[in-house]
Amino acid sequence: MRRKARSAGVVTHISTLIKNAELFGQGEITDIRIAGGRVAAIAAGLPGAGDEHVIDAAGGALLPGLHDHHIHMMALAASLDSVSCGPGDIQSADELAAVLRRQNAAVGAGWVRGIGYHPCVAGDIDRDWLDRHVPNRPTRIQHRGGRLWVLNSRALEELGVPSADNPPGLELREGRATGRLYEGDRWLRDRLDNPLPDLAAASAKLASFGITGITDTTPTNGAREWAYFQQSQAQGRLCQRVRMMGSLQIGDCAETEFLQHGEYKVHLLESQLPDIDALSMDIANAHAHGRAVAIHCVSSAELVFALGALRGAGCLPGDRIEHASVASPQLLQAIRELGLRVVTQPHFIAERGDQYRADVDTLEQPWLYRCASFLAWAIPLAGGSDAPFGHPDAWRAMQAAVERTTPSGKVMSAPEALSPEQALSLFLSRPEAPGVNDTRIATGSRADLCLLDAPWRTVRKDLCSKHVRSTWVDGNRVF
Ligand SMILES: [Zn+2]
Repeated sequence: MRRKARSAGVVTHISTLIKNAELFGQGEITDIRIAGGRVAAIAAGLPGAGDEHVIDAAGGALLPGLHDHHIHMMALAASLDSVSCGPGDIQSADELAAVLRRQNAAVGAGWVRGIGYHPCVAGDIDRDWLDRHVPNRPTRIQHRGGRLWVLNSRALEELGVPSADNPPGLELREGRATGRLYEGDRWLRDRLDNPLPDLAAASAKLASFGITGITDTTPTNGAREWAYFQQSQAQGRLCQRVRMMGSLQIGDCAETEFLQHGEYKVHLLESQLPDIDALSMDIANAHAHGRAVAIHCVSSAELVFALGALRGAGCLPGDRIEHASVASPQLLQAIRELGLRVVTQPHFIAERGDQYRADVDTLEQPWLYRCASFLAWAIPLAGGSDAPFGHPDAWRAMQAAVERTTPSGKVMSAPEALSPEQALSLFLSRPEAPGVNDTRIATGSRADLCLLDAPWRTVRKDLCSKHVRSTWVDGNRVF
């Protein structure tokens, strides 16, 4: 069966017969036919037809395709050309200096770009620190939180700093730029006139984890990003379905089967909280435009503030809290009462847990990246990688949700651990209803599927993406 599926670029559907797969949630071994982008038939002993592609699953589990509910796709694509500067890969100032010098030698032309920096590596570095190690080439390093870039003198020069219109986030000391630039992504992109990054490699990587859909949660997303995602999908450079959060502007962009409007994104920063009534009005305005909101809250103060603003505005079904990194018992209750959803990143415990143990108030440590408590309060809970600020592999997040161990092997708040099935569910809900687990594989459902190389009873003890054997989006095999 063939059809023309996307706005440009012809996508060909050839029907596929998956033999002997363990059907998700039902455990039975059966055959599944994919045709026309849908699950066309489910029955044991389906005969092959014509030029149909036949795969023997040999008892491997067939899951609905995974959905990453919180990711920054452009930044992920850009990060693939960047050098990692953070804990995990880089432990000290000397190591950071060495990796920057190596990258400086390896890059043919253009910038040295680093990501994932944390002050535990070399403190609050600035332009002078970078100049000592990379004096000749424009260099920028992003803090792992994503809001701060540190630039060297060559980079500032290239960007025309200082100038009459320095960006608002540019830090000055006695009138001189320190090289530290807060919230400067959009300004950097405009100044550098950077082409948007090719999404193909990042998309293929996600497909290799069984991910068939993403929610892009970048607050600055607008019409330009919308058009670029649509074009990338049409060219086959972005194979996942996308729910795009961002500004109100995207509400005017026409949706397709592959690209949908997401929530209005609000990014709070504890040190620069806006006026709470202004935020309530902002939320109410988004609601009036038919958009639910998603509020970034990584500290207790940010969460208290967000819940206050939501209470003032009133909530819509679909309003959500991103991260809810620190949630006290009282805040769990408030989230529940307001009917909010939460999208969490349990892998941050596996990636950053030792740092949290050192930096986070001991009273708050049991409330970090909770999982089981949200479920106990019947708060819909879903998972997102937050890539490139977290690892893009959803299976690492699942494993972390089950084990809750830090890089050094310490267990953090064991009562928050999930079962492997609950952990998998974090990535199975529909994009518009994170945390509502009603996804099933049935005749007529979309052929967004993930085939594992073993039955679930085996994989549940080893939640690892190496078990992903094949991935289909809209019936097309993308991995
Ligand atoms: Zn994020």
